[in-house]
Amino acid sequence: MKHSKIKYHYEFPNLPITDNDIQELYVKMTNILWEAESYILELNHQRMDLPDIFISDDVVTKTYGKYTYKAILKEIGKFHVAFPYSYFNGMLEKLSSTIKRMPKESSTDILKELVECIESKLDHAELKEERASIEKIISMLKNTKRTVQLLGAYYHQNNRIVLYINTIGDYFEKAPTGDLATKIKIGLEIVLAHEIFHAVQYHLMIDGNKTGEYLWTHPYCDKDYRDCVLEGLARWFEYSWCEQALSTNTIYQWHKDQLDDELHTYYYPGWAYAAAKVFVRRGIPLRHEPMMVLETLLEAVSRGDRYCWRKAYDVLESFDYHNQRLP
Ligand SMILES: [Zn+2]
Repeated sequence: MKHSKIKYHYEFPNLPITDNDIQELYVKMTNILWEAESYILELNHQRMDLPDIFISDDVVTKTYGKYTYKAILKEIGKFHVAFPYSYFNGMLEKLSSTIKRMPKESSTDILKELVECIESKLDHAELKEERASIEKIISMLKNTKRTVQLLGAYYHQNNRIVLYINTIGDYFEKAPTGDLATKIKIGLEIVLAHEIFHAVQYHLMIDGNKTGEYLWTHPYCDKDYRDCVLEGLARWFEYSWCEQALSTNTIYQWHKDQLDDELHTYYYPGWAYAAAKVFVRRGIPLRHEPMMVLETLLEAVSRGDRYCWRKAYDVLESFDYHNQRLP
């Protein structure tokens, strides 16, 4: 394995992070990588180069939500089937045609209006199930198009992980215990775990198949499904990393709880974290049941045809989320 030096290009006069902390992070990185690699060695025996890590004080945002449109339409479709004579049908029809016509980044105002309109009439729901179904659609609509600040990112072009320390600091500062330095150090480590798993995924696709780069970057290559699978798996790895480290510090437990909440909120199939939901709700320990799902997904991904994402996504969707029991 090539050991690259940890590079960082910014001094943080206001943050209590020292060179020593960075060196510790480097040691952690090899542990994380070993753990992440252990999941793919069955599929791909070539070891990967360690990515460079950059710690940056930039604030970078990304907008999510494309999946949710599809998921909402699907929910509306299910509603029409279950309640063909419902009071809400006309309204939902209008809503689905609005969603279908909607440009990618805008129109949240129209959605908001429709949500308020449906909400104001919710008392007309005759059946408990009908009400529950409408409430679900409303909650999905409310969660459409989220712009988030990135905690980190993996850039495959130059095999580089960037950790956005200001955003990490803002988020981990909220942990109830520990001093700021510890919070930031653990935050960097957790985000690093997530991004390293993306690096491993990329490595798997590149070396397992010559068209890997094509699969990763091609705009028509089922991007929605691809992102859902990759992001969900990385999220799951991040969760697992916290799970195994939580005896050493309560900040891991705190973050794990946040992830649990988040996964509970974005419960619906089709959301980018649906994959993680499968693993989390099916329960840790890692090496048992979830491994079967993981292997199926990674295999689908490494197979390398352009429909593999769709297949992997279908594996996720085939779970009966609503009947899963919490561990
Ligand atoms: Zn990610």
